Amino acid sequence: MRAAVIDKPYSVVVNQVDTPNIKQSHEVKIQVKVTGICGSEVHAYHGTHPFRVPPVISGHELAGIVVDVGNEVSSVSIGDRVTVEPHYGCGTCKRCRSGKYNICENKKVLGTQEWTGSFGEFIVVPESTVVPLPNNVSFEQGALIEPLAVGIHAVRKAKVGLGDKLAILGAGPIGLGILLAARNSGATKIFITDALEYNLEIAKRLGATHPIQTSKVDATETILKKTNGDGVDHVFIAVGIQAVLNDSFRIVKRGGKVSEVALFGKKPEIEISYLQNKEIQVIGSNMYTRDDFEIAADAIATGMFDTSLFISKILPIEEAKTGMKIVDEKLEDVIKVLLKFNDLILHSFYENNKKLKLFYNSKKNFPI
Ligand SMILES: [Zn+2]
Ligand SMILES: [Zn+2]
Repeated sequence: MRAAVIDKPYSVVVNQVDTPNIKQSHEVKIQVKVTGICGSEVHAYHGTHPFRVPPVISGHELAGIVVDVGNEVSSVSIGDRVTVEPHYGCGTCKRCRSGKYNICENKKVLGTQEWTGSFGEFIVVPESTVVPLPNNVSFEQGALIEPLAVGIHAVRKAKVGLGDKLAILGAGPIGLGILLAARNSGATKIFITDALEYNLEIAKRLGATHPIQTSKVDATETILKKTNGDGVDHVFIAVGIQAVLNDSFRIVKRGGKVSEVALFGKKPEIEISYLQNKEIQVIGSNMYTRDDFEIAADAIATGMFDTSLFISKILPIEEAKTGMKIVDEKLEDVIKVLLKFNDLILHSFYENNKKLKLFYNSKKNFPI
């Protein structure tokens, strides 16, 4: 099969590799149609990801078609359009038994050396991880279910409710997923920060009430001013950089919640006295579980989540390296770059998005 292999740091080659096949009765083989490039693939590309270590066929955001099933598979059939929840727990530890397999110590993650990921044309996954795509959800949208489920999990854990005020630090795909989930959970005032204008423009279109460009204004000062010095109910850390970490404690209200969703490469330093002084509740959020995945699929299917603005670019798998460089070096304005395994699926969303970009590029002054 064709596969984009991160063979060593800063190198992606498209090779013919052995096709994985079903070995156990509960496994499902899927032909990948579309796969997304995520921040964790970029870490793998840098050679800095803790478990996506080159040489590796990474990729964990995908949609495709079931092409084979093991003897005991009963919930999916050949020909089904599906996505995959790209992790599973050991099944026996206390966490797994209470449904929290996302924090199982021995969980397996798709796109690692031990479990070939969706940068390869075929993947083999346990039946329990397969999630059917609703009929009106395209493959491109299906590949967005995974990153959107991250935001849904974080928002549900933080129990965001009607009238809440929020700050989301980082307007990449995860921050924007948090935005969609929070907006639809009733948050009325949503600050979102980023250095990039394009990401903030998308955030505005998705319902952020206060996009703040951190390269132009002081986000902490702005948020405190616009909340009369009180701060927000919830802060979501959606970018793994030291600078935003202690800001989150400054802009959260007394007794408020800070959710940590981002991956941090280095060990960050935090001013822990804020937690005691302001009685801040810190919430960790790690990937998602099945519920979050199904909510993401339904939210797209019903039109509650507008995913059109997420799909910035679709490239053939042969151009995986180009896609990786675009995401890594921010060579273009993109939210999500998708890779596809054939030419049949250039979607109208992508065309719409090109129009948006033209519109955006023609604007002179970006208002904040
Ligand atoms: Zn991802
Ligand atoms: Zn477990």
